[in-house]
Amino acid sequence: MVLGIAQDGGMPHIGCLRGPCAAARRGERPAEKVACLGLTDGVSAWLVDATPDLPAQVHALGAAAPSGILLTHAHMGHVAGLQWLGREALGARGTPVHGTERMRRLLEGNEPWRRLVVEGRIELRDAASVDLGGLRAEAVPVPHRDELSDTVGFLVTGPRARLLWLPDIDSWDGWDRDLREVVSSVDRAFLDATFLSDGEIGGRRLAEVPHPRALDTMERLSGLGDRVRLVHLNHTNPLLVDPSPAERRGFRVAREGETLEL
Ligand SMILES: [Zn+2]
Ligand SMILES: [Zn+2]
Repeated sequence: MVLGIAQDGGMPHIGCLRGPCAAARRGERPAEKVACLGLTDGVSAWLVDATPDLPAQVHALGAAAPSGILLTHAHMGHVAGLQWLGREALGARGTPVHGTERMRRLLEGNEPWRRLVVEGRIELRDAASVDLGGLRAEAVPVPHRDELSDTVGFLVTGPRARLLWLPDIDSWDGWDRDLREVVSSVDRAFLDATFLSDGEIGGRRLAEVPHPRALDTMERLSGLGDRVRLVHLNHTNPLLVDPSPAERRGFRVAREGETLEL
């Protein structure tokens, strides 16, 4: 189940008084939670990434607490939610948290995450290939601003279907895999659509936050749109207001609450 579709800062976005952010604050449209994928068999509830919206996302999966968490990388929208597992909130006991080696080193070596490890709130485990009981999740390394950790997406395979969750990547050309090939090999690919096109937040700043532009992604994947869901939308992304540029090309924006049976 898709539990959120926004870039790390969510929507409405702090500091933004315009567009959908202003409309959401006025109650004229729904807010968008930070991008997150939930995996459930009706009993266990796994999250891909620990967003600042973690409590609501766990409950949307029908669970009281997460069974485990898979982390893509260490940027705010993907790890900040781990804080909810601590003594001040859930007070978790041994919740498995899967990440790459570099991700795990960051968490066990730095506060406030280190405290979660020391107190046994979380148990750090490898993310390369994770058995979720009927589903298997495999970490797929991708190039991304790696100041704190490296970055992965996840391929999740079940008895019926297979999906790719890839909320953050710098560029398709910098990836050691062929985008069309990967998307063709899954039933659904949730792909980084942070920005629709250049010029969205001013050319200079956009260069400082490298992400594929969704218009370019759709061109590269033409004919495969029915497998794709655009996700991790920045609050500036025009698709939040009008999805027609995607729909005209046969693509869809991911929706909170949408499900896929794996
Ligand atoms: Zn992100
Ligand atoms: Zn905004």
